[in-house]
Amino acid sequence: MDRPVRVRFAPSPTGPLHIGGVRTALYNYLFARQNGGKMILRIEDTDSQRFVPGAEDYINEALAWLGIEIDEGVREGGPFGPYKQSERRDIYREHVKMLLDNNRAYIAFDTPAELEAARSAHPNFQYDASTRGSMRNSLTLSAEEVESLIAAGTPYVVRFLIEPGRDVEVDDLIRGKVVINSSVLDDKVLYKSADDLPTYHLANIVDDHLMEISHVIRGEEWLPSAPLHVLLYEAFGWSDTMPRFVHLPLLLKPDGKGKLSKRDGDRLGFPVFPLEWHDPKSGEISSGYRESGYLPQAVVNFLALLGWNPGDDTEIMSMDELVAKFSLDHCSRAGAKFAFEKGKWFNHSYLQMVDDATLAQMFKPVLKKHGVNPDDWSDDYLTRVVSMVKGRINFVNDLWENASFFFVQPTEYEAKSVKKRWTPDMPGNMKTLISILRGLDDFSSAAAEPVVLGWITDNGLHMGNVMNAFRLAVVGQCKGPHMFDITELLGKEETIKRIEAGIENIKPVE
Ligand code: GLU
Repeated sequence: MDRPVRVRFAPSPTGPLHIGGVRTALYNYLFARQNGGKMILRIEDTDSQRFVPGAEDYINEALAWLGIEIDEGVREGGPFGPYKQSERRDIYREHVKMLLDNNRAYIAFDTPAELEAARSAHPNFQYDASTRGSMRNSLTLSAEEVESLIAAGTPYVVRFLIEPGRDVEVDDLIRGKVVINSSVLDDKVLYKSADDLPTYHLANIVDDHLMEISHVIRGEEWLPSAPLHVLLYEAFGWSDTMPRFVHLPLLLKPDGKGKLSKRDGDRLGFPVFPLEWHDPKSGEISSGYRESGYLPQAVVNFLALLGWNPGDDTEIMSMDELVAKFSLDHCSRAGAKFAFEKGKWFNHSYLQMVDDATLAQMFKPVLKKHGVNPDDWSDDYLTRVVSMVKGRINFVNDLWENASFFFVQPTEYEAKSVKKRWTPDMPGNMKTLISILRGLDDFSSAAAEPVVLGWITDNGLHMGNVMNAFRLAVVGQCKGPHMFDITELLGKEETIKRIEAGIENIKPVE
């Protein structure tokens, strides 16, 4: 690579960062790290109409949670600042002037009503070489008129003068060469006097140039802007240092065709935002991966594989492994279906890698939420509980439904199993079981199991019915970890107490 790798993630603070934006940030980060380059976070807030308070903090918090580290940015500082576009007005003004001075742009005074009239008069109206000669701009008005309009404070825009009939080539590292004829492009607005701010296109390429960006890695939705950007680089005389373009494939609906949207998440029950978002205007709350119980490592791993593959079937990869393996050559051009079920599988897999003691700590807030004071239980107890049930969970929250019986005695008994297992002889059998258990000096799983099973076989009892009735009384339902591991942890007194309660409360179904 001939120039130092410098990439940027350039979100607009118009709301919560969408999961697709997170993937863009991640790919930029992986590429930067892999090439010993720099990752820049630039806040593109030139659209004052769409600015949403809190969105910038949200972006920072989300990237930090995911472990996507920023080298240069608003918070981090850096030699190419400011990194927030609303603080770079002077720079843009100067660059707009450069284009005007070189006749690569012009000033246009057309009012919204005039533009509307042009549009209704010509259904395919486009402000370009074929129409600009009949509009109110510095190409059709005299220099004096232009000056006096500006002096009078008339609002104007600066438009890019696009020369028609040229093939513009965008060389994209994923998509290859894309050629577009300049005649289809309109004279894009680059600057608006009304708010003294540039539009996205101008600010974006001026900053990419000044910040010495080597690769522009962004979502495919920006591909249509790329030819215009190529022309802007050329107009400024920067073609030699133009960044390489990399347009990432779209994230698609998990089912069917089309772009992934928030509605898909609501419909199918998965978040499309990294963190929970509280909309400051509507008060609406949108769920986030963090609050839904995902581990950041699982989210990163899941997203990394939506549009890229390592060239083999490795699925579980840490951030360091992703950095080592990532390559633009293995990014696909086709859209990636957002397989959220796979996301759950990743979370399941990552939870299995968390050591039991740590998982036990993560379980504490869940216990609290369900009215159980975690301080009433030793860390050792909690650790043993999670080690027994973690194989069944996708989320930390799932620990509760799989392990609640370790903390509270069942008060309800699964009806289906009562009907099947609590045969009329069960109360009697359970009484005998109590006396057997009481007689045990060693209540460990290894010691209790052969004694109880021996009693069942020696007396010709029904193994399935007796063991399930036992489980029903202790757990409340016929599922869960190995029965004697449960009773070992609950202890003799608690186990017996529960069987007694079962005899008392479970009514056999005739
Ligand atoms: N501000 C644009 C966005 O919100 C940046 C697009 C780009 O990366 O050029 O996505």
